[in-house]
Order: sequence, then structure tokens, then C-alpha cells
Amino acid sequence: MILNVARYNYPEQFGPSFDRLMENIGTQILEGRYILTDEVKQFESAFAGYLDTGHTIGLNSGTDALIIAMMALGIGLGDEVITQANTFYATVAAICFVGATPVLVDANPHTFLMNVAQVEHAITPNTRAILPAHIYGACTPMDALLRLSQLQSVYLLEDAAQCHGASFEGKRAGTFGEIGCFSFHPSKNLAAAGDAGACVTDSAVLADKIRVIRGLGQGRPNEHVALGLNSKLDSIQATILTWKLVLLDAWNESRQQIAANYREQLTGLPVVFQETPAGSTHVYHLFQIKTDARDNLLDHLIQAGIDAVVRYPQPIHLQPAFKAQGWNRGQFPVAEDLAATTLCLPIRPDMSETEINTVCGAIRSFYGAGR
Ligand SMILES: *Cc1c(COP(=O)(O)O)cnc(C)c1O
Repeated sequence: MILNVARYNYPEQFGPSFDRLMENIGTQILEGRYILTDEVKQFESAFAGYLDTGHTIGLNSGTDALIIAMMALGIGLGDEVITQANTFYATVAAICFVGATPVLVDANPHTFLMNVAQVEHAITPNTRAILPAHIYGACTPMDALLRLSQLQSVYLLEDAAQCHGASFEGKRAGTFGEIGCFSFHPSKNLAAAGDAGACVTDSAVLADKIRVIRGLGQGRPNEHVALGLNSKLDSIQATILTWKLVLLDAWNESRQQIAANYREQLTGLPVVFQETPAGSTHVYHLFQIKTDARDNLLDHLIQAGIDAVVRYPQPIHLQPAFKAQGWNRGQFPVAEDLAATTLCLPIRPDMSETEINTVCGAIRSFYGAGR
């Protein structure tokens, strides 16, 4: 089958200066400069500057960022961490990896983000942290969560893997709590050429702890002062990320324009869109539409060569990996509904008007609304 509208276009992300970038990376490879090089430090300081936060610590992946953030805060056995039932597997797996217990709240049916009103009721004496995932690229309203975390003396963490550059009331997602966790997986708005991630924090003390943990627990060479992982951002990936970071805001703006175009063209059809919370911006990592005819529409789009996908077809509480948590079907009805009724349309910064029209035309034809 011919792919008419793709989800990714990597050559476009690198642009005409690709050869210069390869030359730079080639030099690093030949010189044997791989680990925690100046290139890594350069990206860390550029990304911290971009977010207007104190420190970025480059890591292997977003999953590691979540695990290491909780390790740095001493979250573990007997502790509860609150997140939402409609996030990506890694958010919840990370909580389990450090030995803590994930406590879920449902999704907000309009914003598809964490239902922040439910968080207060989920807090117990064992709660150590609240961990909203800003999924699909919209920033969760952070004011109530920030107040609640301060009032209850629990940490606020953020899974910011899908929302590089989004903000709430002018402040960038990932910078509200003690630590923000980012992924630079190739699918994300800011993408490495492989796995990569980062923790960001305003606290110099936490930044030091995270650096020790990512480097096998070493305070200085051969002195292992803490239990650590080996999770360092590669120099090659850092070079690519620094290269792309200067383009991120323009890319996010393109995504926003494409999203506006989709909304305009699809208005009047029986599809519902994700609402951006008041005060938040949305950087459209994914463009979701919600429809009771999801599965048939998905088939129809795939038949038309449109790379639509479902993110995510199974909510957290029904994933086999979390069976031991004892969650049941029906417990988080909004997350279940979203898993059954949403699909993502392709959205890339470089999408052409023709591609957008192709997608919208296919959706209109599905609903018999004519092209
Ligand atoms: C991608 C993603 C992660 C995991 O990041 P990796 O770099 O793939 O390990 C975690 N949480 C969310 C919400 C994600 O989208």
C-alpha cells in the first residue's frame, strides 16, 4: 500500500545542513569523544536555557529520566505516586521499578489530561509524589497541583515526554515541580536519532544527585557513593539535539497551525477534539480526534494510505503488566472511553496543505460528507 501521508519525515528535520552535522559527528567518532563530552554539556545548558530552568541532566531515555527522578528523591518501597490511567506505560512502569506503588486517577474527558480534581482524594499518608503526564502535547493545568503538593508536602514531578515547549501561564512544562522528565525518542517533538532523555530541575542538589545516579553512582571516579544506573546521554545524540533545538519553537508553531487547519476542516463532522486547558499551550505531539466509529475510521484512513494510529488502545489499569496492582475494568471509565474512541491523525511540522487536505478529505468521505 502507498503511504500518502506519513507521520515522520526525518530528512526534513535535518534540512540542507545535514552534511555539516555528519562531519561534526564523524570527527567525534574518529577522535573517540563519546561520553559526557562538551557536546553533552552544551546541549544540557541549551535545553535548560530554553526551558528557563536551572539544570538539564542528559540521560539514556525518558523512561530512565522517570526512574532516576524518583531515585534522586528517595521514592521507593511503601511510597505512593499518583498519576493518571491514560498515560504511556513508561510513566507507571517507572513508579513500579523504584518499588513504589502507582495510584491512578482518571482522565479529564475534555482535556484528555490528568483529572486534577481527583488528585486530592487519591492522597494518603503514604503519598510521596504527584506525577502528571502532559500527554499529546498539552500542558496540564499546574496551579491546583502545585498548591496541593505544597499543602500536602508531597513532591510534584512531571512526565514531559510529549510536550517539549508547551507551557502553562507562561511557564514551560517540565519546570513546575522538583524534577521534569523528558524523552527525545525519535517520535517526539524534539527527536534524537535513537533513544535519549533528560531530567530537568531548578535544584542544584537534585541535579548533582541525578548526575551521580546516571554515572553508576560515582561521586568521583572509582568512588561509588550511591546506587546508580548507567544512563548517560550520548555525545552524538546531544549534538543532534542541540542542532534541532533552535528549530523547536518554529516546529511547534507549525504543528499548532496544522492542528487549527484540521479543526477548521473537520468542524461539523461527528468528531470531538482534545480541549486545551485555559492558560495552557498545546504543542501537538499528537493530534487526537474522538469518535464512536474509531476502529472503522482508522481502517478507512489506513486504506487511504494515511498513517493514523491509536495512542493508546489499552489504558494503564488494563495492561497485563500491572495485573498485580489489582485494578479493574470500569474503575477509570474516562480512560477506557478514550482508549476506545480516540485516534491520532498524522501531524508533522513540514506537512503540506495537500497532505492535510488528503487526510480531511478521507475523513469526510468516511462520514459521507463529500470531499
Ligand atoms: C515516550 C514517552 C515516555 C518514555 O520515553 P522513552 O524515551 O521512550 O523511554 C514516557 N512517558 C511518555 C508520556 C512518553 O510519551
